Amino acid sequence: MISPHLDDAVFSCGAAIAASRAAVVCTIRAGALREALVTDWDTQSDFANAHQAMHARRAEVAAALDALDPRPLHLDLLDSQYAGDVSTTSDEIASALIGVSRTNAFRTLLIPLSLFRCDHYLVHAACHSAWRAEPMLTCIAYEDALYRRMRGPVQLRLDELAPDGITATPVSRPIDADALVRNLAAKQQAVSRYASQLRAFRPNGYDDVFAPERFWTLQRTHHDR
Ligand SMILES: [Zn+2]
Repeated sequence: MISPHLDDAVFSCGAAIAASRAAVVCTIRAGALREALVTDWDTQSDFANAHQAMHARRAEVAAALDALDPRPLHLDLLDSQYAGDVSTTSDEIASALIGVSRTNAFRTLLIPLSLFRCDHYLVHAACHSAWRAEPMLTCIAYEDALYRRMRGPVQLRLDELAPDGITATPVSRPIDADALVRNLAAKQQAVSRYASQLRAFRPNGYDDVFAPERFWTLQRTHHDR
């Protein structure tokens, strides 16, 4: 499961992580910044600087993933709010992903559909490159939390896949009501551990996190040109 930032996998598919016996959550932009940079987002989260923010966020994600029991993997790339002129390219992310996938013998890539932020687009594109390099992988896209119930973004992204020869089919699973309740409870516990993120979103600013998680199986309709 590929998470652009430290919160995306849990917020978008925490219940699916809880339901999986062998999930690996690979966070792309988990790199720590040494300098005391101050950004608007970190200020909204009540941090004095970026170093303090990333230290706290890493502790939060560790506690959150404890509630869901996947194996965490953190790549050392910087969040774009910190990267400035040394912003990571899609090729660099793809190369790191291919390495992680081979080392861990991934069979499925669960990737962000990428509904809003540019960081997510970049990660989505990198995942496609990794998928092209490893065509035996099953590729499933998850709808990114906080944006998936907005009018337009899901349809737009599905439309954008078609010219690349990629079809998206909704994933449907048999419904086990008891498991749904159990997994949602685990997700609620995990989300509650992101104290700084929740402060920044404000109460009611993250309702979408607990909306149904949705997934799309991606398949190629023709070979890459
Ligand atoms: Zn994100």
